[in-house]
Amino acid sequence: MLKLFDRKEPKTTSQASSLVDSIISPFVNLFGSEKKDPSKVASESPRLNFNFPKLNPQSSSSSSESSRTTSESSRTNSESPQLNLQHSRTTSESSRSTCESSKSTSQSLKSNQEPTQVTSESSKMATVVAHWDYEDEGQCGPCNWPNAQTGKQQSPIDLKLSKMKVYQLGDCLKFVNYHKPLNGELLNNGHSVQFVPDPRIDVPEIYGGLLDQSYRFVQYHYHWAQNDNEGSEHTLGGLSYPAELHLVHQGVDDPSKLAVLGIFLQVGKDDSALSADETVLGRVTEYGQRAEIKGQVLDLKLPENKSSFCRYHGSLTTPPCTENVLWTVFTDPISITKEQLAALRAVKDCNGKVHRKNYRPTQPLHGRQVLLTC
Ligand SMILES: [Zn+2]
Repeated sequence: MLKLFDRKEPKTTSQASSLVDSIISPFVNLFGSEKKDPSKVASESPRLNFNFPKLNPQSSSSSSESSRTTSESSRTNSESPQLNLQHSRTTSESSRSTCESSKSTSQSLKSNQEPTQVTSESSKMATVVAHWDYEDEGQCGPCNWPNAQTGKQQSPIDLKLSKMKVYQLGDCLKFVNYHKPLNGELLNNGHSVQFVPDPRIDVPEIYGGLLDQSYRFVQYHYHWAQNDNEGSEHTLGGLSYPAELHLVHQGVDDPSKLAVLGIFLQVGKDDSALSADETVLGRVTEYGQRAEIKGQVLDLKLPENKSSFCRYHGSLTTPPCTENVLWTVFTDPISITKEQLAALRAVKDCNGKVHRKNYRPTQPLHGRQVLLTC
């Protein structure tokens, strides 16, 4: 029996909700604007523990990586500074002020590099979490994000199919209510465009397929770049797709855990996957803009072949980069049209410029085992 998570310290729903509310990235944005006590959350944060599954694959390639997984996977996310947690929420107003203040913060960071200037590490990290961006060499760029240097289960990763454990999937991944049209809102949050559904009873869920529990759909968003040879966060054998879609789900029994479906986007003739988005993308090009979407069907955003995917334990790909994500990255891409890709590329950041890119570079595997299902 595969066991994907060890549950050592069950939490109440309210505790777990509070935890998630504070550690999730701006892309997740689950719980509206209710204030939480950061000190309480910080004390709970180190208790996160995501152990690797006890694998029993039917066939496997020889890999020395698997022997190292257990000890490394016991690390927790205690690196995340307490101060950072209060900055993880994104609402339109808060993110606007965040982005606007980030300009001056960035400038002050550049001008405050005298050796005599003493700035605590936690203070620097709090600034990064509040004002992060995708500038490679920047003070708030990916190299300086939380866990970038110290994390052992970071995402995204390069998916090397030849090094994965192949697993014959007996219990396929199930999609509940994925065929039902959703109404909701598409928001330009300064980092991407993000769809959040209106509250409803029959929320789409996923279960099975080696997931440890049911996970409920929360939001989706995209990653892309301005060139066709980059854009996706995960890479497949070192190769990038022009864009990647992330469908974010939260655990039903244990809301501190997330399950994200990663789907590669390639340019083709089929426009159905992004047809609903396309109708409003032109109205959310500016930071803070939001537009209503009706009749959004998540099924259209999934590849036809849902049996072949890569599964691994990883993290949020944006600050605070919390290591609480069970990743499912489908090997088959879906198609979008070049016009739809152009519409994504026209989306601007909080400085009024189109995103040169909004994907995080791939992270070291650190001995993690990746399953390839078929
Ligand atoms: Zn994402």
